[in-house]
Amino acid sequence: MQIGVLALQGAFIEHEQMLSALGADSFEIRQLADLARPMDGLIIPGGESTVQGKLLHDLGLFEPLQKMLQAGLPVFGTCAGLLLLAKHIANDERRHLATLDVTAVRNAYGRQLGSFHTVSPFADRGEIPMTFIRAPYIASVGANVEVLATVDGHIVAAREGKQLVTAFHPELTGDLTVHQYFLDMLK
Ligand code: GLN
Repeated sequence: MQIGVLALQGAFIEHEQMLSALGADSFEIRQLADLARPMDGLIIPGGESTVQGKLLHDLGLFEPLQKMLQAGLPVFGTCAGLLLLAKHIANDERRHLATLDVTAVRNAYGRQLGSFHTVSPFADRGEIPMTFIRAPYIASVGANVEVLATVDGHIVAAREGKQLVTAFHPELTGDLTVHQYFLDMLK
């Protein structure tokens, strides 16, 4: 299994460590040439969605990547990655790759109380630790989107076909459940 990790900004190294702990190979995507490498799936890390969005455009990665996602490249986006994939952002003018049929709310928990940790069920995999950092949540989903986790009544993980997103950061805990779920999706 070969996973590309978008490595422009944010917490990408932590994703690579999770993948390696699960025996999956990964490589960093930093420039156009990297997109030509064989890839079973892509991870878009947390960080700052506006910065990553701008860098995608500046580096000429935006359109090729969007086309690959539209053609079915499996993807896992965490936090800012969720915002990059969302078709709609309720409180932001910007749209990014816009391949996932959800409406996200940016910095949804407020600036002061935006970071917290909890434990909650994920899909059919039991309870897992969830770390939120100035996180979005998903306010509504399209008909083909499966909700995988909610916290306090808000959707914090979802899947549409081979696109997986979490509002929290599984790569910042020691828990491999969500990354294993993503790798299972690729089989
Ligand atoms: N608030 C950030 C954004 O808007 C996301 C935060 C994160 O990825 N931890 O992109």
